[in-house]
Amino acid sequence: MPTHDVVIVGSGLAGMRAALEVCQGASVAIVSKVHPVRSHSGAAQGGIAAALGNMPPERTAKIQARIENGAVLPDEELNEDSILLHWFDICKGGDYLVDQDAAQMTAENAPTLIYQYERWGAAFSRLPNGKIAQRPFGGHQAPRACYAADRTGHALLHCLWEQVMKRSDQVTVYSEWIVLDLIIRDNICRGLVVWDLNTGRLETVHTKAVIFATGGYGRAFSITTNAFANTGDGIAIAYRNGVPLMDMEFVQFHPTGLYRLGILLSEGARGEGAYLINGEGERFMHRYAPTLLEKGPRDIVARAEMMEIMEGRGGGPKKDYIYLDLRHLPAELVRTRLPQISDLVTKFVGIDWSKELIPIQPAAHYSMGGIPTTLQGEVILDAQETLVKGLYAAGECSCVSVHGANRLGVNSLLEATVTGWAAGRAALAHSQQAELAPLPADATASAEAEVKGILENEGTESVADLRKTLQEAMTEKCGVFRDADHLKQCLETVKDLQHRFHNVHIRDKGQVFNTALQEAIELGHMLDFAETIVEGALARQESRGAHARLEYFDLKTAAGVRDDENWLKHTLAYRDGDGVRLDYKPVRIFKFKPIARKY
Ligand SMILES: Cc1cc2nc3c(=O)[nH]c(=O)nc-3n(C[C@H](O)[C@H](O)[C@H](O)COP(=O)(O)OP(=O)(O)OC[C@H]3O[C@@H](n4cnc5c(N)ncnc54)[C@H](O)[C@@H]3O)c2cc1C
Repeated sequence: MPTHDVVIVGSGLAGMRAALEVCQGASVAIVSKVHPVRSHSGAAQGGIAAALGNMPPERTAKIQARIENGAVLPDEELNEDSILLHWFDICKGGDYLVDQDAAQMTAENAPTLIYQYERWGAAFSRLPNGKIAQRPFGGHQAPRACYAADRTGHALLHCLWEQVMKRSDQVTVYSEWIVLDLIIRDNICRGLVVWDLNTGRLETVHTKAVIFATGGYGRAFSITTNAFANTGDGIAIAYRNGVPLMDMEFVQFHPTGLYRLGILLSEGARGEGAYLINGEGERFMHRYAPTLLEKGPRDIVARAEMMEIMEGRGGGPKKDYIYLDLRHLPAELVRTRLPQISDLVTKFVGIDWSKELIPIQPAAHYSMGGIPTTLQGEVILDAQETLVKGLYAAGECSCVSVHGANRLGVNSLLEATVTGWAAGRAALAHSQQAELAPLPADATASAEAEVKGILENEGTESVADLRKTLQEAMTEKCGVFRDADHLKQCLETVKDLQHRFHNVHIRDKGQVFNTALQEAIELGHMLDFAETIVEGALARQESRGAHARLEYFDLKTAAGVRDDENWLKHTLAYRDGDGVRLDYKPVRIFKFKPIARKY
């Protein structure tokens, strides 16, 4: 049985960044269900945010900082960026559901952590003066996205992997090991139950601290930008072990997924000047974000696209998509700053971006919600912040909450980096003073029953069918716009699928690389947490950030009705028998007073 001081689950930016902290003083292992450099962080395109204030020469015009409602800001015009402005943009972008200390920590630590990537050799794109280049991104008031062309995640993930390999005597990596369960007794996390995909063996990993860095769950939706591995395993495992899930109703839909495929075309394209065009050939964003236009935040742009479609101005025979227009961009700019986009549209839809419009639609992209934590990544159980000793979460699976109701682009690679770094430091400190807590005799019982239950089931339901039904229901009934009727139907579907899942059958009964079993386990996870998304959305009777309820939304003015009096609070969803119990937790607001959110 492997024993380590700290075990990190996940090897994306959050997991590896955490490992680099822990290995400075404790034995650490990373467990990952895919090889580390195949983690979804590697798919990130547009950039990572930090207020470095590196202004591209073509944008020397002074930036008039707009901090509304008396928030503190230097009076003078800024001709560069500031941490305060970044902090403010996060809070406004998140429709004020952001815990403002979390946003502060994120904005403040961004420059140092970005320069650390640079020192480690991350291949950032550069300005002519040699500084890290920065481009505009939705909802950010200054060009703040540091990027490596449109392959930023790839550059950063490989950079961290090199650093981990350099310390391979201190960091053990268990690749293609899948975590099935947490071992928590008396509120103390003692280890993990892990399934070795290569041999089919169940292993117990004994440890003083676990950091979950298991990423997002876009795969619960049919149109998604997410990798196949993004099935929200960590979120579901925490939930099954009594941890509540926070703000799950806030799911981000990215405005520019390739039509029907969901493959992401980075917001970097709009950052570099691409347009959005409706079926009538009109640029329409002036109706929805008159100042920022295509550079508005994602929730607003995704809704704008849906409204154009709902009002019959979509493109194509069914009028059900929108176009991204790159035709006016210089070929050299696309070649150097957006090469992947150009590749993707050629290979997947056979389109020449310089001559044709690219069909796109909103696609499930990012989960604002997740496992609730303190600023140090410690997992909490309730509004009083009772801790589960030795359990931490970081990156997309966690909810600190830095993004509130809507994440701004390029803030997530940053979140993964900052929260990974913070959780790594906290887990290291904990492991240096804590003892290894003994493992209970029944540590593996529940995981064994789960695996056996699927392998021996001779039922009639197929994983693929159940998954497809779930994904379609989530996209169609719990998507960009929601309403009570559709959410209730969606909940019924999820409940029905949970029931049918007890009757699921897989043909492969083998031990070695049983991916059918893996898919069944992942589906079980998705069915569990999907219920918290729908229940949270049904309960929240307002529109805020990415959660737009048609009953609380004026389609004529494209404005949502936000109800600060009753709903300026975080949702906590607990597993309760066969259902979900909801509780709420206050938002930490001390700097920027919530005001109407306009762009
Ligand atoms: C296409 C795309 C483009 C994006 N572009 C940007 C961008 O430009 N800028 C930005 O800021 N954000 C971007 N994002 C969001 C951002 O990439 C993610 O939020 C972030 O990378 C998440 O990092 P992470 O470390 O939390 O998780 P991930 O990188 O997703 O890693 C999750 C890890 O958990 C492991 N894991 C999961 N379940 C288990 C299990 N049961 N057992 C063992 N291991 C497990 C996986 O193997 C993996 O290593 C993008 C997202 C997508 C999908």
